[in-house]
Amino acid sequence: MRSVIPSFISNHKFQKNNLKNYTVDLRNVFEQSPIAFYTCDRDGFVTYFNNAAVKLWGRVPELGNDLWCGSWKVYYPSGKPMSFDQNPMALTLKEGYPHEDIEVTIERPDKSFRNLLVFARPIFDDQENLIGAHNTLVDITRRQEDEIKQATLSAIVESSDDAIISRTLDGIITSWNRAAERIFKFSAEEIIGESIKKIIPESRLHDEEIILSKVKKGIKVDHFETVRMDKNGKQIPLSLTISPVKDSSGKVIGASKVARDISDRVKGDEKQSVLSAIVESSDDAIISKDLNGIIMSWNGGAERIFGYTEDEAVGRSITMLIPEERMEEENLIIGNIKQGKRIDHFETIRQHKNGSEINISLTVSPIKNRKGEIIGASKIARDVTAQVRAQEEIKLYNRNLKILNALGKNLSENLDVKVILQAVTDASTKITGAAFGAFFYTRTDENGESLQLFTISGAPKEAFEKFGMPRNTAVFGPTFAGEKPVRIANITKDHRYGHNKPHQGMPEGHPPVVSYMAIPVISKNGKTIGGLFFGHPEEGVFTASHEEIVSNIAVQAAVSLDNSALFDQVKSLSAKKDEFIALASHELKTPLTTIKGYLQVLNKQTKDTMSELFIQKSLNQVNKLNTLVNDLLHMSRMESGKLEFNREEFDLREMLQDITETYGYSHKSHKIISDFGESPAIIEADKQRIEQAMNNIITNAIKYSPKADEIYVKLEIRRDMATVVVKDKGIGLSEKQRKMLFTRFYRAENTKGISGLGLGLYLTKQIIDRHNGYISVKSKLGEGSEFSVNLPLKK
Ligand code: ADP
Repeated sequence: MRSVIPSFISNHKFQKNNLKNYTVDLRNVFEQSPIAFYTCDRDGFVTYFNNAAVKLWGRVPELGNDLWCGSWKVYYPSGKPMSFDQNPMALTLKEGYPHEDIEVTIERPDKSFRNLLVFARPIFDDQENLIGAHNTLVDITRRQEDEIKQATLSAIVESSDDAIISRTLDGIITSWNRAAERIFKFSAEEIIGESIKKIIPESRLHDEEIILSKVKKGIKVDHFETVRMDKNGKQIPLSLTISPVKDSSGKVIGASKVARDISDRVKGDEKQSVLSAIVESSDDAIISKDLNGIIMSWNGGAERIFGYTEDEAVGRSITMLIPEERMEEENLIIGNIKQGKRIDHFETIRQHKNGSEINISLTVSPIKNRKGEIIGASKIARDVTAQVRAQEEIKLYNRNLKILNALGKNLSENLDVKVILQAVTDASTKITGAAFGAFFYTRTDENGESLQLFTISGAPKEAFEKFGMPRNTAVFGPTFAGEKPVRIANITKDHRYGHNKPHQGMPEGHPPVVSYMAIPVISKNGKTIGGLFFGHPEEGVFTASHEEIVSNIAVQAAVSLDNSALFDQVKSLSAKKDEFIALASHELKTPLTTIKGYLQVLNKQTKDTMSELFIQKSLNQVNKLNTLVNDLLHMSRMESGKLEFNREEFDLREMLQDITETYGYSHKSHKIISDFGESPAIIEADKQRIEQAMNNIITNAIKYSPKADEIYVKLEIRRDMATVVVKDKGIGLSEKQRKMLFTRFYRAENTKGISGLGLGLYLTKQIIDRHNGYISVKSKLGEGSEFSVNLPLKK
């Protein structure tokens, strides 16, 4: 094997221009060279390599054994393995030409890679015979890495969403990425070489100076929020990060700027701060809580309504606001929230830090995260205490109005003192919300005592009866004296309370009294009738408005009581009158009967026509008088319940036939047109009274149809009733008159010139009613009347 170590690698003698000969140890030079170098013989075996080559390969090749190359593995730049016979050295040996500037990648035994440029050249001997080849290897790994780094960086810079700009210290722009183009609307071409001031608003030039001074000192400025402007002058909020750019000696030569467009964030922030401001300024409590009910946020409204500060509330459970008895509500609310349901205007009660209760209207909505999962709830609570109070007041007002209306009706309809006072006591007790109320009469007994319990509401009467004497005490006195109302929030603390034995407190069994109110009831004539007294075991129950309402009731009650007293007087007068009528009619009846008897005897004995006529006229008048006296007598007996009925069975039809026959003789002015049907009408009744009733109606029909000459009497039998209809075509009755018809002494205003006492129909109705029948009338003023008397048939 011929050595192919080129002769220049051996020690070489230089002789230059006959100057001093010197020897250069080239081998040593190669050994020390930083450039990898090796040689192969004609067959490709490595014959020489220097240190740099060993360093590059990461191995020491075996001389005479390794072919073409000392490297372990060789690849094309694409990464494809390169076979040894394709190695530039193999090719150079094969072809006898240099293969230079060829890029290969070698793998080293430690699995690291190196990129090389190889320069393989053939070696010839003096006879131009190819005897081997040498190869210079240039390590370009670093360079390539830098290139990649650079490319990567550029790619990053280009693809960044942030504007990345570099500039000199004079403010001349030296690079401008695509995001900068997008954000500032200047193309790289337009702006590179221009001043950075093109994108700085006048007002911000100062910022730039501060930044620059820092950068010059080599200080990095991080996330500096400022405003820049685009090509159109539009302002853009930005977050800037500015780093000094240094040269290899470490001197600052410029700055790189990364500018992030934060418009969206600013908008978001603005929105956020608007929202926060709204939340903070809201009068409503706005609270958020997690699904475990732990408070996460708490606004000023919440602090005002519930009394807890944000610090006190956040982190605590929402249950601190919920009254014990309403705890269940929270579970219901959370249950709904977990299902994504919202709760709207739920009216409930929550408690203040100080324990007082607040009426609130709640709206609770689920809070969702970005993924749409429910993570909590937001609560808006409006303090509706005032509304609720107003509503309650309206309700109370309506209720009081109802009570007062009912009371008013009661008072106007009733003349019974007991009923009036009970109604007054009940109504005023209800309105004041008193535990009990009572009316005491002002009555003076032999000891000058002035109290008599009359009515009570809300407590048993016995409770008050235990109330010992004296009752004319300092507390009660003013009321019975008719002075102004007394209203005391806590009677037990009143200086007048408990001084009179046995009134050191309430007697046993007496309802406890703390709130006390007493209103005098004063008659129109100024005399105190009595007082209304109210008590309640709690303090301060009675209000000024209670006092006012009950004072008004007391005035009404006094009027009713006055009326009632008047009525009592009238009643007793009327009783006296009835007594008189009963007596007078009784006293009149005896002489009348005597006169009638004598007249009848005279009538039979006289033959003188003149005397006969006078006697007959006298008898007619006596009969009339007799009827009147009878009516009066019957009325007073009826009133006193002394009129007795003697019931017997008879045929009404027969009776009507007899009556109409008699009328045919006695009342020649009117013809009675009758229709009594075929069947008898058997009834069980007082025959005399029924006849009296029938006579009254038929007489009236004749009396009140002076211009007519006929009346109609009809008997109808319908199921179990007999109906007698008496009809006339006379003066008739108005609706108003019809209503009064059956009252005592009533006579319509159109009866002038027609005699009567106004008792006939009153008696008729009483008689028919007492026989379980009824009387009805149809009539039209000026057209006539139709009276129907209905009596039950005997079964
Ligand atoms: P009197 O006939 O004695 O006045 P009544 O009690 O019989 O008393 O009748 C009461 C009033 O009813 C009469 O005064 C009269 O105004 C009215 N009245 C009774 N019957 C008739 C009738 N048939 N037509 C019109 N008015 C009548």
